[in-house]
Amino acid sequence: MLSPANQTSYETFIDACVEILGPSKLICDADERAPFETDWLGQNSTAALAVAFPESTAEVAEVVTLCAREGIAIVPQGGRTGLAAGAVPTADRPSLIVSLSRMSRIRNIDVQGRSAVVEGGLCWKPCKTQSANMI
Ligand SMILES: Cc1cc2nc3c(=O)[nH]c(=O)nc-3n(C[C@H](O)[C@H](O)[C@H](O)COP(=O)(O)OP(=O)(O)OC[C@H]3O[C@@H](n4cnc5c(N)ncnc54)[C@H](O)[C@@H]3O)c2cc1C
Repeated sequence: MLSPANQTSYETFIDACVEILGPSKLICDADERAPFETDWLGQNSTAALAVAFPESTAEVAEVVTLCAREGIAIVPQGGRTGLAAGAVPTADRPSLIVSLSRMSRIRNIDVQGRSAVVEGGLCWKPCKTQSANMI
């Protein structure tokens, strides 16, 4: 629970996030935040100030600059499938979760080199016709 003294500065921080991202790329509501505050194992759950969904490197840079200036911890999330509690906030300091789920573009596929350059939020989902879709 945030102390009343901090609440005002956290609200100012959230306002600054909205200014960077717009309201549609920020979740503040506790119920909507909840899935992002828990990892795949469901064993770790700590409240964050908000969840941000930047869509570009420039937006990420602005959010990182803001968090550094305000002393807010950043918790980057990709697919949230890590099993070491690295993608959930810790209780010792206020955190902003930065979900990269809207940064899911495939930038390059090198068929010969059997490699791909993708953005941090791209998730691979198994499908029934998996072999047909594999390179
Ligand atoms: C069913 C299952 C099977 C798995 N099998 C394997 C396996 O075979 N081999 C294997 O290696 N792992 C496996 N894993 C573990 C997991 O899938 C990998 O660790 C995966 O690489 C995590 O990626 P993620 O995008 O979900 O990361 P997340 O869980 O979102 O994050 C993991 C860590 O990376 C940080 N992070 C995420 N994105 C960024 C970013 N862009 N910049 C900086 N830091 C970032 C997070 O803060 C966190 O500390 C498995 C997990 C599950 C649930």
